[in-house]
Amino acid sequence: MRTPAAPMAWEAREEEPGDGEVIVAVAGCGVCHTDLGYYYDGVPTRHSLPLTLGHEVSGRVVAAGAGAREWLERLVIVPAVIPCGECAACRAGRGSICPRQVFPGCDVHGGFATHLRMPSRGLCPVPDLADERVNPLGLDLASLSVVADAVSTPYQAILRSGLSAGDLAVFVGAGGVGGFGVQIAAAFGARVVAIDVDAGRLAQIAEHGADLTLRADQLDFKALKQAVTAFAARAHVPTWRTRIFETSGTVSGQETAFGLVGHGSYLSVIGYTPQKVTVRLSNLMALDATVQGNWGCEPRHYPAVLSLVLAGKVQVRPFVERRAMSSLNETLAELRDKRISRRVILIPGESS
Ligand SMILES: [Zn+2]
Ligand SMILES: [Zn+2]
Repeated sequence: MRTPAAPMAWEAREEEPGDGEVIVAVAGCGVCHTDLGYYYDGVPTRHSLPLTLGHEVSGRVVAAGAGAREWLERLVIVPAVIPCGECAACRAGRGSICPRQVFPGCDVHGGFATHLRMPSRGLCPVPDLADERVNPLGLDLASLSVVADAVSTPYQAILRSGLSAGDLAVFVGAGGVGGFGVQIAAAFGARVVAIDVDAGRLAQIAEHGADLTLRADQLDFKALKQAVTAFAARAHVPTWRTRIFETSGTVSGQETAFGLVGHGSYLSVIGYTPQKVTVRLSNLMALDATVQGNWGCEPRHYPAVLSLVLAGKVQVRPFVERRAMSSLNETLAELRDKRISRRVILIPGESS
């Protein structure tokens, strides 16, 4: 049996936090599809190599610089994208495209480590997890690391899509991000369709908010589209109330998602692949449809995301697998080879 790891002690050495900075002892760091892109596919990081990857962190603040002392000893979630809050983009409410944003594991050393140094701005405070009223499911801090990306990213995409009760949400990809996206969409009162190649994932998500699941490995595109259209007709949802979320980050998934766009539909691109797809962009003109990309989630939305998780409206435990941080190399290889279908949370100091 594994014992939950206590955040490791911090011994002040040369890594003293600077002004407005904190040192976070990592409780857990989720492994993202994006990490595979950096590690295997040559996707460039903004920080020069060598660089510690990992951008889905929860932990405890164990050291704080001037201007950040109020964070000391607090439990936090470190947003995957921390905008500067001051530039023209930030002031215009477009923090996700802030050119001075800090993305751990890309701009600075990330969370596949015992500790990381981050600016304190944007940190999401975690309430007292021992209080049964705020944490009725008894989630631990490491489990909450997925709030930093896998849950918050689809949350922002769903907010932007304007999804509301009675709309149709279609998720192409029911893995880490998509699995949480389905649950959020269901919590928003939408009817939800999930499409994936993994039967196990689909069986699971059918119990967590998906009204219809479709096997992309068994149905060709035409059959998928017919099934989605028939479901929408039964639910009396017109195409202009359909929001499609591409969460697979695969070429076939992106082709499927684009092909599902109908009159007035909205397509959100959340998954990442360095590969190109060929699409007829004029379909968007002819269908008066909208496509929008989504990068991360602004820190101001994090408390609402955390509330959904703590309240159990978005379930974490069935969708994650905890592993020792020391298994990082094998874990990345297994994820690349698609031998793991859950979100992996790596935990420092836990034996494998
Ligand atoms: Zn990510
Ligand atoms: Zn900015």
